[in-house]
Amino acid sequence: MLLTGVQAPVWAQSSADSAPLTVVVTTGMVADVARGVGGDLVSVTSLMNAGVDPHLYKLTRRDLSRLMSADLVLYSGLKLEGKMDAVIARLKKQNRPVVALAESISSDRLLTSGDYAGQYDPHIWMDVSRWRETIPAVSQALGRLLPEQADTFAANAERYADELQTLHQSAQQSLNSISVNNRVLVTAHDAFGYFGDAYDIEVIGVQGVSTESEAGLKRIETLVGLLVERQIPTVFVESSVSRRNVDALIAGAAAQGHDVSIGGSLFSDATGPADTWEATYRGMIEHNVNTIATALGGNPLADSLNPANNSSASNGLVMEVN
Ligand SMILES: [Zn+2]
Repeated sequence: MLLTGVQAPVWAQSSADSAPLTVVVTTGMVADVARGVGGDLVSVTSLMNAGVDPHLYKLTRRDLSRLMSADLVLYSGLKLEGKMDAVIARLKKQNRPVVALAESISSDRLLTSGDYAGQYDPHIWMDVSRWRETIPAVSQALGRLLPEQADTFAANAERYADELQTLHQSAQQSLNSISVNNRVLVTAHDAFGYFGDAYDIEVIGVQGVSTESEAGLKRIETLVGLLVERQIPTVFVESSVSRRNVDALIAGAAAQGHDVSIGGSLFSDATGPADTWEATYRGMIEHNVNTIATALGGNPLADSLNPANNSSASNGLVMEVN
């Protein structure tokens, strides 16, 4: 019913002044930016939770009604949400407030996709410095909806941007500790292009940029050959992608007498389980950096942005002093 086009006010304040703005987002990464900037003034609903692959996710009826009734819709963009094109187009046609975070990143900062000519790699959140560049777009969108709170959104945005800057620098420091020979990241699909670009690590995905294209036997054979030839000891699985292909790599290498271990499970296209630190974007990145750095022989992050960790860390310090 909602789809038949109730004439909703565009960029209008939500009906009850005191009620938080309803922000509907696609992924946990986008949700973190919305919450970071919106604070108490927004109620954020993420359509895709832990373990959900956004390339393949099809909207449910409930999702559609949430999207159509939201005060603001935020999505990642660059065709990450591969099955949502028609719905996004419909929302835009009805002049609903819809913002793709990727649109705020200038094209010279985008990497091209290996899968499709002329398309960009959508996994921009993997480089914290690029993801940080999407914050002003969210702040502006919220400020347009609640102009009297624009200063609050701007202040929240600045604080959140500072956090991401800290995270980016800590990630650089941690990943720089991996020796030159070990700076190779083999994962289930090509989600880590921006990560590799930002943190100077060679990345190899079994599947392409989208999980829609299946990895063929030939691709697996080529990669097994590469693992054996370069004696790469570690590969990684991803929480939102089947590990079948990674297991095939390990089996293939073993058949040629080369042992490959799994360095851990990474959050690529979805944040971690609800009510954990990894359910936030910052927690997801910290998990990935710690997992990768440790498995490849480097040092984990010196500090965590997790407020819970920080309090336990300072307790630990007091205990050491004693
Ligand atoms: Zn992906």
